[in-house]
Amino acid sequence: MVSTTLDVEQLLRGAALRVTRPRVAVLTAVYEHPHAETDSIIGVVREDLGEVSHQAVYDVLRVLTAAGLVRRFEPSGSVARYESRVGDNHHHVVCRLCGAIEDVDCAVGDTPCLTASDDNGFAIDEAEVVYWGLCPTCSTAPSS
Ligand SMILES: [Zn+2]
Ligand SMILES: [Zn+2]
Repeated sequence: MVSTTLDVEQLLRGAALRVTRPRVAVLTAVYEHPHAETDSIIGVVREDLGEVSHQAVYDVLRVLTAAGLVRRFEPSGSVARYESRVGDNHHHVVCRLCGAIEDVDCAVGDTPCLTASDDNGFAIDEAEVVYWGLCPTCSTAPSS
């Protein structure tokens, strides 16, 4: 868990990115709020930096995603979400009712999902699996 500004700065430098206050603020927000959508990231960044334009935050998220510091995923029917847990090809379970999202480790071992039963000659580097269902809160709530 990266929680200090210093660590975040090191991550940026490690990815050969210039350290700027918006980048530090956005990356920190993504670490502290896994699976947050852009709007809530903007809200957190504004608490930190004051007024920041949507476009500035979008731009930073795009740069961080391209650099591999942030993973972007988009469950169907939902807006894009961002998280700092990158590189392990984990999956997500999404609640159909309230949209709650949790991480799910790969079903077996490290990244077996990357071994497609037939890769059709493609060089596969990511398998995106989304499990859908009801979260504990929704599955126990009385239906109306
Ligand atoms: Zn739910
Ligand atoms: Zn995740």
